[in-house]
Amino acid sequence: MNSGVSPSRGPVATLRRIAFLLERARADTYKVKAFRTAAAALLPLGEDEISARAGAGTLTDLAGVGASTAKVVAQVVAGEIPERLTSLEEEYGGELTSGGADLRQRLRGDLHSHSDWSDGGSPIEEMAFTAMELGHDYLVLTDHSPRLTIAHGLSVDRLGRQLAVVDALNEHLDGGFTLLKGIEVDILDDGSLDQTDAMLARLDLRVASVHSKLKMDPAEMTARMIAAIGNPFTNVLGHVTGRLVTGNRGTRPGSTFDARRVFEAAAEHGVAVEINSRPERRDPPTKLLELARDIGCLFSIDSDAHAPGQLDFQIYGCERAEAAGIDPERIVNTWPKERLLDWARR
Ligand SMILES: [Zn+2]
Ligand SMILES: [Zn+2]
Repeated sequence: MNSGVSPSRGPVATLRRIAFLLERARADTYKVKAFRTAAAALLPLGEDEISARAGAGTLTDLAGVGASTAKVVAQVVAGEIPERLTSLEEEYGGELTSGGADLRQRLRGDLHSHSDWSDGGSPIEEMAFTAMELGHDYLVLTDHSPRLTIAHGLSVDRLGRQLAVVDALNEHLDGGFTLLKGIEVDILDDGSLDQTDAMLARLDLRVASVHSKLKMDPAEMTARMIAAIGNPFTNVLGHVTGRLVTGNRGTRPGSTFDARRVFEAAAEHGVAVEINSRPERRDPPTKLLELARDIGCLFSIDSDAHAPGQLDFQIYGCERAEAAGIDPERIVNTWPKERLLDWARR
């Protein structure tokens, strides 16, 4: 996906590339939507029809194609590279970091991603296709759990339907890539998980995260996190402190807890500590990352992508892990799929 400007890219691929670059630059969903919607509208049409419509100026008669996206398509049809793409490639297409590339090469997948079934901006299949294009062997789909109503957390019923969609999607793939079934399950105040055991048991992998009462008393927060880590369904401890360091949601300090005890519990139970790659999270903070390293924890480097272009965020986490000198063998998403699934079965 980072191959830069390609004159051979067709209209749909060009629109998707523009959307990818905007998402990678953390543009608001509404700015990206026009390009994703237009790509979806053109996908079922043949090249001849797209060319004919571009010639006749009737692209905008299609639902989902507006003036600016029609202009992009017309330029592609005419054999030109659209200015919009050129300027975005210049502005946002470059390397995101100066480090982490070697480690990123070793990652085989991503364990934390959201679709438009919860608070993500794109359909499940678009997340999966983009993960394939980034070279992954697997992506774990981890939409939110019921209690996170502002993020449209999935009820038992909706999660059940989602699992059927994931099965159907995998049937259409050649087996070189697998969309894995997962969840980002809320850690409730008492440390229990916000989904039924029966549903959690149907998943390949579960990320457990704190999203509420971040200012809880440290002793209670420690007990809450240790209880979640001890739950046999928990595989990954998501964005450990919950802090926000930048971005349009503002900043907030992380929760406070006895990090040594929490990481010792994670090491004991084989739960991976997530290195959350989102630039506004950078979680855990470096001191905690180094503590978890010294205690001997496993790690996962996750994008926590809420849009396809954000799947590229993993490089930020790789840069931090590399700087902290974390052994790639201890990063579970450097493992092949079968080894990952064995581990996640606990
Ligand atoms: Zn989360
Ligand atoms: Zn998430």
